[in-house]
Amino acid sequence: MNLTCSEQQRTACGVGGLYTALAIERCLPIMHCGPGCFGNVSATLGGMNGGQSGETYLGSVIPSTNFCEDDVVFGGTERLRKLVEECKKYYDADMFMIVDGCTAEIVGDDIEEVASVCTENDKPVLYAALPGFKGNSVWGHEQVLSAIVDQFLKPAEKTNPRQVNVFGIVPFFDPMWAGTLDALESLLVHLGLEPNIIYGREKGIANVNKIPEAAFNLILAPWTDLGVAERLRERFGTPYLHFDNMPIGPTETARLIRTLADYADLDRGKAEALIHKEEERFFYYMRRSYSWIFGCKNFPRKFIVNAGAAAAVSVTRFAVNDLGMIPYRIYITEGVPEEYEEMVRAQLHNIDYDGDFEIIFSEDGGLFEESLKTEDFSIRKICVFGTAWDLVPVKKHKLTFVSVAAPYGNCMIGSRTYFGCEGALRFCEDLYANAADNIVDPGI
Ligand code: SF4
Repeated sequence: MNLTCSEQQRTACGVGGLYTALAIERCLPIMHCGPGCFGNVSATLGGMNGGQSGETYLGSVIPSTNFCEDDVVFGGTERLRKLVEECKKYYDADMFMIVDGCTAEIVGDDIEEVASVCTENDKPVLYAALPGFKGNSVWGHEQVLSAIVDQFLKPAEKTNPRQVNVFGIVPFFDPMWAGTLDALESLLVHLGLEPNIIYGREKGIANVNKIPEAAFNLILAPWTDLGVAERLRERFGTPYLHFDNMPIGPTETARLIRTLADYADLDRGKAEALIHKEEERFFYYMRRSYSWIFGCKNFPRKFIVNAGAAAAVSVTRFAVNDLGMIPYRIYITEGVPEEYEEMVRAQLHNIDYDGDFEIIFSEDGGLFEESLKTEDFSIRKICVFGTAWDLVPVKKHKLTFVSVAAPYGNCMIGSRTYFGCEGALRFCEDLYANAADNIVDPGI
């Protein structure tokens, strides 16, 4: 019998969707899960992911019923109801989000009923079923957003013609989500838009409430949140603009700015001036270093990506279009739904490179390491853009490496971002810092 198993998971299980609730200030997730569930998801999305936690509520204070044997036999909804009532007394929150895991779903606990019994006008209690047997944390993220759209939002009395809601990024699964959204917000404001972002610093429920007022929704990702955008169009008639990546570097940043200027009828002169300014700055710093680094004959030209589609599309566009690198193989590891696979494949091929390269859709993050048993990169060096899981094989084989996705690594991520032209310089700094040990030519 030929047995296979997946290794090196780059997502958490479905209950990891609670991190999307945690990214919304003053939204408290309440877990109706086994005692180990939070530990499981927090390793990938929290501690080993740049040392991240919620800000209003740290991981250590997230309440849970700690579902146990008695609950399996007798049901756990009464204990859940009591926990929610206690949370409403002792936690200062604007919204509560009940999430359940495998055991509660298997025994059929009715979390919808608990949510409706516990909801008060000013303290909404929402629910999202997130059992790991149904999907991973990216699926869980969409369940949490859908819960907000379906259970909480109400039609707006007016539309704000400048307001744009930003979706697509999956907080924590994209380890640089906070810094990226900060930088993106500044760019959108500069262009004359009013960005409405629900995740991160000083956003929270006030911004969630404003979602139905937007002129349009902006989806900056290969496929995530497209379902949410469809739901918002059905419920509130809000159109959406799908831009297939979070730009890194001048080419994609300029394309985003021009796409927005066309779609939202923005001041074209201002848009072009911003593109010019960003490009000038980027190329100034790149010119200063190019001959030492990317022009070095030993710098590896080919690269492998071992990460989710969002990181893969952003990094591939930048590496090919702006750095002149060549894709060798791209592993897409978050379980892209089948209906989106061809679209993501086309997005990855939409680059300034006509040659062949492999694209592999698999949640088995260990395939890259397995490939090193039969492929030798010791002479023909290669760059790897992946996650902390790839550290051991890349160190062993002395390959150049940049972490671009969860689990990002055992470090402090802070406000780090690769977004835009400034972020692209950070990417190049990290790339060279890692490459230096492997590529330095003794002759230079
Ligand atoms: S797979 Fe199920 S039991 Fe395991 S951590 Fe996730 S929700 Fe909990």
